[in-house]
Amino acid sequence: DTLLEQARQEVLGPGYTSEALVGATREIQSELSRLVRETPPGAAAHGLAELFLALLRMLVIPLVFASLICGVTGMRDFSRLRRIGVRAAAWYVTTSLLAILLGLLLVNLLEPGVGLQVPLAVGQVEIPEPTGPWEMILSVVPTNVVASAANFDLLGVIFFALLFGLFALRVEERFLETIDGFFQAVFAVMMKMTLFVISLAPVGIAALIARLIAMTGPDALTSVVGYAATVAAALLLHGLITLPLLFWLLTRRNPYTMLGAMSATLLTAFSTASSSGTLGMTLEQLEDRVGVDNQVGGFVLPLGATINMDGTALYECVAVLFVAQVYATTHPEFVLTFGTQLTIVMLALMVSIGAAGIPHAGLVMMVIIFEAVGLPLELIALLWAIDRPLDMARTMINVWSDSVGATTIAHLEDAIDESVLFARGADAIP
Ligand code: ASP
Repeated sequence: DTLLEQARQEVLGPGYTSEALVGATREIQSELSRLVRETPPGAAAHGLAELFLALLRMLVIPLVFASLICGVTGMRDFSRLRRIGVRAAAWYVTTSLLAILLGLLLVNLLEPGVGLQVPLAVGQVEIPEPTGPWEMILSVVPTNVVASAANFDLLGVIFFALLFGLFALRVEERFLETIDGFFQAVFAVMMKMTLFVISLAPVGIAALIARLIAMTGPDALTSVVGYAATVAAALLLHGLITLPLLFWLLTRRNPYTMLGAMSATLLTAFSTASSSGTLGMTLEQLEDRVGVDNQVGGFVLPLGATINMDGTALYECVAVLFVAQVYATTHPEFVLTFGTQLTIVMLALMVSIGAAGIPHAGLVMMVIIFEAVGLPLELIALLWAIDRPLDMARTMINVWSDSVGATTIAHLEDAIDESVLFARGADAIP
């Protein structure tokens, strides 16, 4: 009211000039933004933002357990399945790592977060002790997996879940059935819970952003454009150069012909932002339009939709490094050592394996890397603002890698119907 009164006098009073109007407007603007900055964030926005973050974190441990264990037990122990499984795993790990390294390269070259001022009122960062290779290996092996879960030590949980899944393949069939069925059921429930939490995202996002703006001013949001461009460029390079090149090297078939044949599936992935949601379509189109034997596709694709997420892996790496760059701008004591970057690469790979094929799963799992690297969770708000379009793009790359991988494996298994797509001479690259 005082401000308004002041404005009224300045603007309508006898000394009215256009300069006075401009001056008064400026003063009011700066006074308002000072008030916004200095007032503690509203209790509601703060509470909702915390609630949303808590719900997100609540999902992570059971999701990681269930999706990793049933991802592994889904493989079963027949020799063909094992061979296909090994090849699929090789494809998943190789392409995901290539994607991450491409992201790492671009984010370090383009530095979208360096120099960005986001003076958040967050506490001092705890700088992790530099770790040697043995410490790193030892930190992955949990002495007590329950304690690891309770302490949110995801590396330990992931290690245990993978081993558990692998050894579940060695027990009696009836036990394996039970374990597989149980964890598939847990996974299904967790997916539903995740969807529920995601349905709260509009409110959660709004609260997080409101709190962020209250603390930093809206400038922070325009700053994510450089980050989004970095993710998009890296995704494009991976989808249009790296994966096609790998495919051509392994099969001597034209990857771009296949890209055309799979375009509807890729668009579905793009618009749903869900690999799992697209799975039915991927299976159908890969058989129908590319000629991949559906026994191979049926085994490789569901695994791929859960485990193989090149786009997500790349995105995790770029996003965390972007936030780290932003954070280091105002907290110079936060140094990204080589060890930390290596940790980020490994965690990005594991997170992309553990992330469910549903919208925003990659963002949900981002919490893990933030925790491990010592970045304040607050800063996830920077990524939320633009997550939907990036999610759509990375999901498309996830599904594209699943499709190219399944076709490559089908080629190696001699399980492609040549009459469907590749027989046409013009499509073959010598
Ligand atoms: N939405 C992605 C997918 O379904 C996962 C992610 O959020 O990165 O593949």
